[in-house]
Amino acid sequence: MSKCPECKKEITKLNNFVSGEKIFSFDGDNYDERDFIEDSKTNDYECPECKEVLFKDEEEVVEFFKGKTKIWDVDIDYPSEIIEVEAETKEEAEEKALQMLGEQTIICEKVCRAEAVEREIKE
Ligand SMILES: [Zn+2]
Repeated sequence: MSKCPECKKEITKLNNFVSGEKIFSFDGDNYDERDFIEDSKTNDYECPECKEVLFKDEEEVVEFFKGKTKIWDVDIDYPSEIIEVEAETKEEAEEKALQMLGEQTIICEKVCRAEAVEREIKE
């Protein structure tokens, strides 16, 4: 679940506000809705709970709902160090850390072990 960064409520959808011109046809009697043409002035994504504009870019919204990226402190045994990695899962974090160490691993001809611990993010 994704949380709104403003009101901290869990949200599954955003309201997308798009500006433009709505076209109707009118025969003197009835209006018929025809089309909507965006003018690209406004294309905002708002939290349905607090109405704050959170994003202006669809890609950011996609990332937001994927949004499981966490920060991990990966403890490497050799060379002994802790690497900060962004990843979605513990396995991914450990793999990424080992890849970052790649060259050193080859030089020392040792198999490094990694242990990732999720960092607490204070809100
Ligand atoms: Zn909100």
